[in-house]
Amino acid sequence: MREKTTAHETGKGAKDPEVLARAKQKLEEMNCDFTRNADLAGLKELAEQGQKPFACIVACSDSRASPEVMLNVDKMGVIFVVRNAGNSVDGVNAFSVEYAVEHLKVDVVVIMGHTKCGAITAACEGGKIPGLKIAESKDIDESIIENVLFQRKKLLENSSIDEAVNSGRVKVWCAIYDIGEGTFRWLETHE
Ligand SMILES: [Zn+2]
Repeated sequence: MREKTTAHETGKGAKDPEVLARAKQKLEEMNCDFTRNADLAGLKELAEQGQKPFACIVACSDSRASPEVMLNVDKMGVIFVVRNAGNSVDGVNAFSVEYAVEHLKVDVVVIMGHTKCGAITAACEGGKIPGLKIAESKDIDESIIENVLFQRKKLLENSSIDEAVNSGRVKVWCAIYDIGEGTFRWLETHE
């Protein structure tokens, strides 16, 4: 079994200098592993020529719902990702999507909810999570779907995104990723 190293696992607070030193080292080692195997010429080319991602994915911050991992993206520049608890398009998140649509000219925006979402669960249990919408029944699975469809509706209140959708330049799709299965399914949006 893996050695218990994080503050959460050891029960020591993150104030423990050893825990912090290990976290720092781990992050540095992860980046070293990345650069050792990375296509450095490809990185340089992307840095010089700019990005052209084909899709913008709005996803939850949940560590089990990483769009790059579940879409098997192993290089930079492929997808433009906006993440926050509950895959909301509130406030600055809408501007991020607008940037992807207006400046990066992505073909599609996908609002990707996921099963067992902690943010939606908290909202169903009465927590105040800004920007999310839950079902009247407070059923978690139902709320996960309702929230994704609500975020799409809210995104279309942004005039430049709405204009891009109406002119056919971009599509806004909805999906739910199953964190236990690794697959996602589309939701009907009645376009
Ligand atoms: Zn979530």
